Amino acid sequence: MALIVQKYGGTSVGTIDRIRNVAARIKRTRDEGNQVVAVVSAMSGITDKLIGMAKEFGDTPREREMDVLLATGEQQSIALVTLALHEAGVEAVSVTGRQAGILTTGSHTRGRIEDIRPDFMCRSLEEGKSLVVAGFQGVTPEGMIHTLGRGGSDLTAIAVAAAVKADVCQILTDVDGVYTCDPRIVPNARKLPEISYDEMLELASSGAKVMQSRSVEFAKKYGVVFEVRSSLNDNPGTLVLEEHPAMENVVIRGVSIERSQARVTITGIPDEPGMSGKILGALGDAEINLDMILSNIAHDGMARHSFTMHTNDLGKAQAALKPVLAEISPLAKVETEAGIAKLSCVGIGMRSHSGVAATMFKALGAAGINIGMISTSEIKIAVTVEETRIEDAARAVHDAFHLDQAPA
Ligand code: ADP
Ligand code: ASP
Ligand code: MG
Repeated sequence: MALIVQKYGGTSVGTIDRIRNVAARIKRTRDEGNQVVAVVSAMSGITDKLIGMAKEFGDTPREREMDVLLATGEQQSIALVTLALHEAGVEAVSVTGRQAGILTTGSHTRGRIEDIRPDFMCRSLEEGKSLVVAGFQGVTPEGMIHTLGRGGSDLTAIAVAAAVKADVCQILTDVDGVYTCDPRIVPNARKLPEISYDEMLELASSGAKVMQSRSVEFAKKYGVVFEVRSSLNDNPGTLVLEEHPAMENVVIRGVSIERSQARVTITGIPDEPGMSGKILGALGDAEINLDMILSNIAHDGMARHSFTMHTNDLGKAQAALKPVLAEISPLAKVETEAGIAKLSCVGIGMRSHSGVAATMFKALGAAGINIGMISTSEIKIAVTVEETRIEDAARAVHDAFHLDQAPA
């Protein structure tokens, strides 16, 4: 008998029929002789709808209340899935984040799982029940509700799998696995049989929303091997695990895109120690996540810095920079540009193969796509392009690396 954690995302529980389908799948897994802990998301669209309702009362609703509100989405789903299991004759119980013992720290809307006290879950499993756990939520030691960031049910599933020492962790979603690129954008993208934690992490943190990036970090840290597969069929999915030597033979594992990026350029900065610290400090204090960072010296001998960030943070960044730039120099000026997107190529094989950037840049050039900023890490090359061209860019680069074909 195996203990299996199955996570069902928003689309998979999006309608009453789909909820019945989830119940049938849990029942089948049980009938095959396994114990099941299901982790479920809010029905698709519900979280966005709740956010929209909150914004009726102002653009910046307080985050404590957002957590209280958003956690209700998952609470609806756990009750409905559990009722569908009862209808199917399965002994099951719904479990909120608090009942699952998911303890969090950090800020509201971005809670981090610190510990899981699985006593209630273990007891219920011993009583022969299947569990339906609310994804995306936890509580602080003081009893405040936290949510875990968008897509956070993935993190709940991985963390619960570690806490109950599951034999198998399955992320069941609306695609058959992790593809070489989002199949909605690149129709000939290929399903990967396996991918390393590091590659999955880079893809997820560069816009591939199939997994929440923090959930992958957690899986790597605690050695939770998991499989991404469809909730609607039995096709084998993609295994996400620690890298092994054969994986390095593939240069590029996948390509991801991230839209709605903006660039902020600051010119007229004195070329002196401490300036970058002041500027980045102000943006950090405003809790703005910077992505690419570029710094150089302009013709006038002054330094210039460029950063990319999500477009939503642009207003906040401008407000945070105003006082610090006034303090630094009367010549310091900010320019902003929205409407850009980021394309990333990821693969651990890059460590041992050269020429990757050249292939990527040539493919973009041949497609008539201009490259803005460039950044690299050991296993990733990312560029910004005009947002209107991002899908063409993804297809051109996917073709250039022949990602539609299985490696020999
Ligand atoms: P869930 O609701 O199950 O959590 P998500 O919508 O969060 O599902 O993630 C699944 C979606 O991720 C897919 O429908 C697909 O469009 C998108 N996606 C982005 N990049 C990839 C990729 N590389 N492989 C597979 N799916 C991807
Ligand atoms: N319901 C949350 C969201 O939409 C969490 C999740 O689906 O994983 O982000
Ligand atoms: Mg998701």
